[in-house]
Amino acid sequence: MKENQIFKGNIIFAPTPEEIKICAKSYVIVRNGIVEGIYDKLPEVYWREKVKDYDECLILPGFVDLHAHAPQFYQCGIGLDKELIDWLNDHTLPLENRFSDPVFAWEAYSQFANELIRQGTVRSCIFATIHKESTGLLFEILMEKGIGAFVGKINMDRNCADFLKEETETSILETEELIVKYGNHPLVKPILTPRFAPTSSDKLLSAIGELAKKYNLPVQSHLSENRSEVKWVSELFPFHSTYSDVYLDFGLFGQTPTLMAHGIHLTDRELELIKDNNVMLVHCPESNINIASGIMPVRKWLQKGIRIGLGSDVGAGHTLAMSKAVVRAIQLSKIMKVFDPQVRPLNTAEAFYMATRGGGSFFGKVGSFEKGYSFDAIVIEDDPGITGHLSLEERFQRFLYTGDDRSIIARFVAGRQIG
Ligand SMILES: [Zn+2]
Repeated sequence: MKENQIFKGNIIFAPTPEEIKICAKSYVIVRNGIVEGIYDKLPEVYWREKVKDYDECLILPGFVDLHAHAPQFYQCGIGLDKELIDWLNDHTLPLENRFSDPVFAWEAYSQFANELIRQGTVRSCIFATIHKESTGLLFEILMEKGIGAFVGKINMDRNCADFLKEETETSILETEELIVKYGNHPLVKPILTPRFAPTSSDKLLSAIGELAKKYNLPVQSHLSENRSEVKWVSELFPFHSTYSDVYLDFGLFGQTPTLMAHGIHLTDRELELIKDNNVMLVHCPESNINIASGIMPVRKWLQKGIRIGLGSDVGAGHTLAMSKAVVRAIQLSKIMKVFDPQVRPLNTAEAFYMATRGGGSFFGKVGSFEKGYSFDAIVIEDDPGITGHLSLEERFQRFLYTGDDRSIIARFVAGRQIG
């Protein structure tokens, strides 16, 4: 990569949840993949350098998807008129079983990665399956394509279909082998991934907690997605006071950076634990609607100081397009208002922040164009025939609601163009 890169266009980002910052016809200077600064006039020192001029286009931070199941990509939109258990048994588990075949996995994971890029997702936290070899392929495909990601081999040794049930020792061993093999890449890294508390024995959860500590690795799992799951966890783990305490007691709840998908039905104690341990919740609005899990009280959680990012939760969510997760998060917060007029719905800045700088914080300085941030960007070319009379902020909002991958003409991760 060249040392300096200079991009010109209408630069739009959310440095805080309160603000959409708009720099019209400006220059962003990138050094070794890192943003050096934004200037309305190009400083003289750069006059001899080449400028990539995107003219009237919008330059936005690329999207960050904090929760996706790569093996479920083929089932997006399928069987979503069913209830959770039928959906899992009829579609998800048989599909995940096919990843025991590395040839199938290579093809399916390549398609998944291509779609991430197409939809403008530049960083993602991904669940694979229990299979070591195909999970290794997922690491390699993402590295080759230049996407930033945390990738987790699922651990699962009980309460699941026999064909996906691991031997406890094998699960631990294979997880560690992947950590050792793929632990040193700058963009694609391992993350510990117990599927969720009910599908792991105490012994397995405890060993995963030990691995997190030993290798100082982050953790991702599911938490309190629906009420029957919460009840089930309380029956399976009678000696832990809440669902969150199960993870906490096994070293999987903020002892290292932790993502918990959903977190819809939480007690006051759990909210305290989440905040005090700096656990990040992942709001997956499309998925919550599709499988009728509930609606996260986002405003309430934000007011308690909890960090929230957005996830597609493909394939319970039916699209990898994070612009649609932004829109759906706003829509769901408005539905909350229907039930409780006191609730203030999310605004565009807040929801966009979650899908960029908020979620990006799990990766470090990602999701913004402030000095020192990774230059992770997408370039939007909308229809001048329609948008010619709109302000930049209006064009930005219009892209989120009505745009799609056809509007995205370039994608960058750490300064490298990946699509
Ligand atoms: Zn999930």
